[in-house]
Amino acid sequence: MGAKKKIIGAAGKFGAGYGSGVKSRFSAVEAKQRIKQICPFCKGRAKRKGSGIWACSKCKKNFTGGAYYLELASKRRKS
Ligand SMILES: [Zn+2]
Repeated sequence: MGAKKKIIGAAGKFGAGYGSGVKSRFSAVEAKQRIKQICPFCKGRAKRKGSGIWACSKCKKNFTGGAYYLELASKRRKS
């Protein structure tokens, strides 16, 4: 009860095992994945197809991005 369960968050579905370090890292990534990913071409909604591969549901374009979420990848490319 308490502190440990709060830290693991979304990774709680794994139950016991995997270690709390792995689980807390996983839930940090999964929280970002749940945020809407925006297509850089048409500002539509992009869906992750695989590691670093994204597809837009509006303009049907495929493009590369971050392995788990788009936001950080596009910021990195600009700088
Ligand atoms: Zn698009």
